[in-house]
Amino acid sequence: MKSNNLYSKLFALLAVMVLLLCSCGTKECKECNGEGYTMKECEDCNGNGYFVVTCRECDGDGWNYCSSCDGTGRDECTWCWGKGDKECSDCNGTGRKTCPSCGGWFSATSSCTYCSNSGYVRCSSCNGAGGERCNMCFGRGYDDCSSCNGSGRIRCDECDGSGKVKVACSECDGEGKIKRTCDECDGKGKVSILK
Ligand SMILES: [Zn+2]
Ligand SMILES: [Zn+2]
Ligand SMILES: [Zn+2]
Ligand SMILES: [Zn+2]
Ligand SMILES: [Zn+2]
Ligand SMILES: [Zn+2]
Ligand SMILES: [Zn+2]
Repeated sequence: MKSNNLYSKLFALLAVMVLLLCSCGTKECKECNGEGYTMKECEDCNGNGYFVVTCRECDGDGWNYCSSCDGTGRDECTWCWGKGDKECSDCNGTGRKTCPSCGGWFSATSSCTYCSNSGYVRCSSCNGAGGERCNMCFGRGYDDCSSCNGSGRIRCDECDGSGKVKVACSECDGEGKIKRTCDECDGKGKVSILK
């Protein structure tokens, strides 16, 4: 047992020497590289830095009501004011014209065969209809709303139509990681050399 005793004495001596060599008796903590803290994955957001939540703007369906057409998808035709046809300018919408033969002044004694004593003839421009179909809206009286292409709804800008938006995690400020005091060195950045 003599040699064992010698070894322990030598070891003790060595330890003292090392302690003396390193005045503070500590070394840099390997766990945190001497920083005193480590970056740990944020548990709140699983390290993503954000949460995916339903878009409040569109209630998650990715579409918003078109305010430009009140959701109808239609814009009143500005050429015919929504009527679908335009008043005939030749007859001012009446569909008839004064008889060119008698000038409207037929008399009971000399009846006008041209207008059958009505004093009027049918307007040839509109064929007696008093108006013509609006070519701008093809007689519909409306055009498809240019904002929503007639669908009455608009793709949600907020979520780009996905219905979901990302919200930064408040726990880690969107970093996905949070600083945590190093357990190994208790935040000191150094550990005892004997450890
Ligand atoms: Zn440490
Ligand atoms: Zn949305
Ligand atoms: Zn619209
Ligand atoms: Zn029109
Ligand atoms: Zn006539
Ligand atoms: Zn006419
Ligand atoms: Zn987080």
